[in-house]
Parts: sequence; structure tokens; C-alpha cells
Amino acid sequence: LHVETQLGEGVAVPVDGNPAHYLISVMRVKPDDIVLLFDGRSGEWAARVRDMRKRDLVLECVQQTKPPEHVPDFWLCCAPIKKGRIDLIAEKACELGVARLQPVLTRRAVVDKLNLDRLHAHLVEAAEQCGRTGLPDLTEMVKLDALLKGWPIGRHLFFADETGGAPLEATLRAHPGPAAFLVGPEGGFDPAEREAIRATPGAVPVSLGPRILRAETAAIAATAAWMTINGD
Ligand code: SAM
Repeated sequence: LHVETQLGEGVAVPVDGNPAHYLISVMRVKPDDIVLLFDGRSGEWAARVRDMRKRDLVLECVQQTKPPEHVPDFWLCCAPIKKGRIDLIAEKACELGVARLQPVLTRRAVVDKLNLDRLHAHLVEAAEQCGRTGLPDLTEMVKLDALLKGWPIGRHLFFADETGGAPLEATLRAHPGPAAFLVGPEGGFDPAEREAIRATPGAVPVSLGPRILRAETAAIAATAAWMTINGD
């Protein structure tokens, strides 16, 4: 069970909050039961149900069961794509150990709004399933030119370029260190965007092979390839 809350001695979870409702009505916990707490940054803790008062449920953290996680310094920057598919990217990025998921609005994006709460819920669920004790940093969507203008010096920006990038594995091996992969939307990047990305210090155009992959395939394959070489 993952209850997102501040970890401390006695943690009062309001009864009408989701986690408490789940604990009380679904898990049917009783005083002295032990539950696992997870807040995405403090590791995982075993907590005892201290008492179930009328207005809230008090959990007492008794022991840290898993330390805060360390994941490789890798960001996945991807254009917003249709709902089910961006959810898939979020879920797989979390499982693969991505440190940051950065939605990037591009001109040919079919979708221009994202429900970050929904994506966050997918991240929590994926973390629970794969045993991560942390969550990828899910940032607000930014426009491509803003992302490029503020691109951090020293971080490789591998750019999934189906029109002609360098071969994947050799390129990743030749560029160790903090990195990000940038993947376009269903309609791809437009020529001016491609130009701007290539002109960004740290940008490295990379090919993911001779076929045109769906955006979610490209994002997951690129992340998996980087993690295979640099992952934990
Ligand atoms: N421009 C593509 C076309 O002509 O149909 C559509 C874009 S593709 C569906 C979505 C994104 O996946 C692209 O913007 C690119 O970032 C990435 N991608 C797909 N296939 C790729 C490949 N073979 N090599 C590198 N990137 C690829």
C-alpha cells in the first residue's frame, strides 16, 4: 500500500482522504496492524495503526524498510501524445528508473493538454508494482523553445531523430554522464524545431533504427537502451 504523506512519528491521515478511506474500508486495518508507507522521496516505512479516531487515522512510523532510492540521472522529455499512450510512457519510464519525466509541447503535437494528476497516479501505481521507493519528478509541460533555451550545460540531450541520427548504442556509450532523451509527437518535429534542437549545446541526434516507431515505442526503447548502458 502506498500512502503519500509526510513521514513522521505519528502521521494523521484525514479519514476523508483517499489513503485513509482505502485503509479503513478496503484494507479494513485495525489498531496495531502494520502498513507500508511511501511518499516518493523518503524510502519505504513500516507504520503501525496507532488508533482510528473518528476524524482521522493515526499511523506511527516504526521502521524504515527500504532506503530512499538512487536512480541514474536520466530525464525523458516527450511530446504529449494521446491519453492511453502517454500513460504507457509514464508507467514504463517509472519502471525503467527514470529520474524526471518532462512533457514538452511541440508544434505538431496532437494533444496540447496533459492531466498531470492522472499521470502522477500512473507513476505511483508503477512504483508500487516495480518496488521503486521514489517517483520520477513529473514536471509541468513546457514549450520546446523554452526547454532548449534553458537546457542545462553538461547534460546530453539525445534527440530521437528518425530523419537521420547517429547509431544508438555507440552514441550512448560515447556520451556517458547526465542525459535526457527527447522524443517527438505522433506528427514528429517540424524542420524548424529539428534545426533548433540540433543547434542546442549538448544535443546529439540519434537513430532508433530504419523504421518509424510510434512515439511511445521510441520513448520506451530509448530509455531502456540508455538504462542498459548506464542504469543501476
Ligand atoms: N515523423 C514521423 C513520420 O514521418 O511518420 C512521425 C514521428 S514518430 C511517430 C514520433 C517520434 O518518435 C519522432 O518524432 C521521433 O522522435 C521518434 N522516432 C520514431 N522513429 C524513430 C527512429 N527510427 N529513429 C529515431 N527516432 C524515431
